[in-house]
Amino acid sequence: MRLSRYFMPILKENPKEAEIVSHRLMLRAGMIRQQSQGIYSWLPLGKKVLDKVNNIIRDEQNRAGAIELSMPTLQSAELWQESGRYDAYGKEMLRIKDRQDRPMLYGPTNEEMVTDIFRSSVKSYKDLPLNLYHIQLKFRDEIRPRFGTMRSREFMMKDAYSFDLTREGAEHSYNKMFAAYLRTFDRLGLRAIPMRADTGPIGGNLSHEFIILADTGESEVFCHKDFVGFDTPGENTDFDSVEGLQAIFDKWTSLYAATSEMHDEAAFNAVPEGDRLSARGIEVGHIFYFGTKYSEPMGAKVQGPDGKEHFVHMGSYGIGPTRLVPAIIEASHDENGIIWPASVAPFDVVVINMKAGDQACDDTCELIYAALSKAGKDVLYDDTDDRAGTKFATADLIGVPFQIIAGPRAVANGEVEVKDRKTGARETMTIEAAINRFVA
Ligand code: ATP
Ligand code: MG
Repeated sequence: MRLSRYFMPILKENPKEAEIVSHRLMLRAGMIRQQSQGIYSWLPLGKKVLDKVNNIIRDEQNRAGAIELSMPTLQSAELWQESGRYDAYGKEMLRIKDRQDRPMLYGPTNEEMVTDIFRSSVKSYKDLPLNLYHIQLKFRDEIRPRFGTMRSREFMMKDAYSFDLTREGAEHSYNKMFAAYLRTFDRLGLRAIPMRADTGPIGGNLSHEFIILADTGESEVFCHKDFVGFDTPGENTDFDSVEGLQAIFDKWTSLYAATSEMHDEAAFNAVPEGDRLSARGIEVGHIFYFGTKYSEPMGAKVQGPDGKEHFVHMGSYGIGPTRLVPAIIEASHDENGIIWPASVAPFDVVVINMKAGDQACDDTCELIYAALSKAGKDVLYDDTDDRAGTKFATADLIGVPFQIIAGPRAVANGEVEVKDRKTGARETMTIEAAINRFVA
């Protein structure tokens, strides 16, 4: 992508409305734009990162055996009357009427709808277990939308829903998502700690929130510090192994970890003082097992091996991609801007032409840009006629992992500089070596 033809509206000044660093940097880097309170457009640079986050989430959901579909944002109130949540949900739900005066709503979550899909076609235990997920916009009319897309009114959620014949089966399904979440957050460059959580309006009996430690987090959390160094389940994790997944769950719940709602002071005080971590955290995922809470009122049942009908045991599993993007920034930035983990970086490398219009600089940059693009790298080429200082500041701000810098003096020697955004280390090398560094 040539920057001169891209759309990346960089802000030079710090926007006053942004209270936390991720919000500030997302606005400055031209990733998002607020359209009305708590409702955002994702501009091209932001959209690229969001897509990468979603693809990692998708990959790990699929690995764990979940199946993707797509459900609408607008739902009929009828379904929610069946479960009893239409009245229970309160003012967070945006209620709308269509032209026939039928009550509709913008979905804050999808338990009812997916239960309806399930009951319409699954009739036998032989079709279980089943886990269906989608990545879709939600709307919750939050009392206090703030911190940009960290807490917005319209936001994206990956929500998965599992269906099993028995409680034991449902626990295995829960453990699959538990392990998938650990892998997902690890691939996003984050350390998320599962904490016992309250089940809230979703209801149910077993629930964990996945929390990232960050000073700007809205939750107060308490945990054993060893979680910070725990190993993430590997790529070879067998998601069909009941014992294997139970062992992962047991290990990751063996030490104290709770949000303030579930905090047990006495249990926490039993942790040796030097191992106690009390901190702020950002909730990036939340999983629930809630048994037959929806299947009973909505009549979602299957025939069991005993020939009788059984209400299915369900769980639901949410991750917030539009919250994860700022959460990653909270965890990875410096005074100059964002530092993206390679897995979600909007571009692999940025080529900086320090003197656009200078024949040797132009030729060198074009050569590098073409070679890296041909090799499948996603390259941003800063071919604008901005001053070199401005270009450096922009490249640092948008946080692309590597910069290839071509200035007249180096280029005259057949050389360029390669800068590592994270460490700040710069290395001068031949043009060929710079290309090979990324292509090889
Ligand atoms: P919170 O406690 O932060 O209000 P929640 O417990 O209401 O969130 P869940 O119903 O558990 O949220 O939703 C699953 C996930 O969706 C959350 O873990 C979070 O990542 C994301 N999410 C929820 N609400 C928002 C929001 N207003 N803005 C952005 N992401 C959100
Ligand atoms: Mg939650």
